[in-house]
Amino acid sequence: MDALYLVKIGEITLKDGNRQEFVDTLKRDVKRRLSSAGIKNSFGSRDARYYLTVPESGRAAAEHILSRVPGINGWARAEKVAKDIDAIAATAVELMRERAAAGARSFKVEARRTDKGFPLDSYGIARELGDRILAAVPGLPVNVRDPATTLYVEIREAAYLYTDGEPGVRGLPVGSTGAGLLLLSGGIDSPVAGYRMLGRGLALESLHFSAYPYTSREAWEKVRSLAEVLAGYAGGMVLHTMSFTEFQLRLKKDAPADRTTLYLRAAMMIAAAALARKRCLNSIVTGESLGQVASQTAENMRFTGSYTDLPILRPLVGTDKEDTIRTARAIGSYEISIQPYEDCCVLFSPRHPVLRACFERERADFEALGLGDELRAAVAATETVELPCPLTPPA
Ligand code: ATP
Ligand code: MG
Repeated sequence: MDALYLVKIGEITLKDGNRQEFVDTLKRDVKRRLSSAGIKNSFGSRDARYYLTVPESGRAAAEHILSRVPGINGWARAEKVAKDIDAIAATAVELMRERAAAGARSFKVEARRTDKGFPLDSYGIARELGDRILAAVPGLPVNVRDPATTLYVEIREAAYLYTDGEPGVRGLPVGSTGAGLLLLSGGIDSPVAGYRMLGRGLALESLHFSAYPYTSREAWEKVRSLAEVLAGYAGGMVLHTMSFTEFQLRLKKDAPADRTTLYLRAAMMIAAAALARKRCLNSIVTGESLGQVASQTAENMRFTGSYTDLPILRPLVGTDKEDTIRTARAIGSYEISIQPYEDCCVLFSPRHPVLRACFERERADFEALGLGDELRAAVAATETVELPCPLTPPA
């Protein structure tokens, strides 16, 4: 017996003109993830409903994936049975027994009939099934206003039954709005920023700046683990690492101490833009949040942003840290982010970075440092690993 899922797609349904394109992107994403794990699958639609079918043995992976693919609002296990009221009732009772065992204390039935040849109308189906469930499942009364669980029944070319589902990531399918380069530090914010943009349909690659051997091997492992978390939502992740050690040593030697953070950020932008162009990525994503740390002021963002004409997407710019932490916990990045390994910036950062860059002066002073060679060398020595899409939660 195959496992059947009803897949609810969300915002895609609003996109009238290119709806089919968005749906196709979503289907391709789901199919690719399952197929790459060797799980046979079919993702089809009928009467504006989307269904995923996998072999029984593929259940765990399918459910893991359905909860992580952007563009899916929610999903539910579904049962397909013959259009026979006794067969439907038997499955209905079984499903409601499971819900009652899971703690539900009331129910209702919502029925829809698109096959008008079926002998009972929607109301008749709901009433018949309601009666049979009441008789067969003790401790589960009907509550039509505020039921703890709802049984949905649809009569089409067959009868489909499903109960309340699990939530999805929502948003838009990955790749439907372009591709970007995420600046991924080991901190709390940047993985959340990446997650947010994946949910807006942006395909991502990640770039980390390391200061090895000033930062440890573990610091990099931590970044890779964060990239793996994102890979679960993105369907895989390309992680680039650039060594900024030489560059940071030069900065420390030649730039005024209160300017090193600002200039480092500008250099990150220049290097990121060069890599983005090489990889055909059309935007840069950061985890910056206005005012969160001294270096993240509008003036400083103007300065660092002036080194690329690619759009810099900062999905957390107006987000409170507590909300970011909540998301980080929910997506599974928080526990990794709080591991204590130092990031490259912390290591070289001054106690009091400049808050309000004076635009023209900083541009001139940064230029005068003549750091082009170090930067080009860093970009040229980029190392790249490809992380697959994980199909089970991390151990
Ligand atoms: P995070 O928690 O993401 O590290 P943060 O609050 O610590 O953010 P900063 O250290 O000021 O903030 O970094 C701001 C942004 O710059 C990060 O969100 C990230 O996008 C980028 N960034 C900082 N350090 C690095 C790094 N070593 N490699 C790649 N990107 C970085
Ligand atoms: Mg950081």
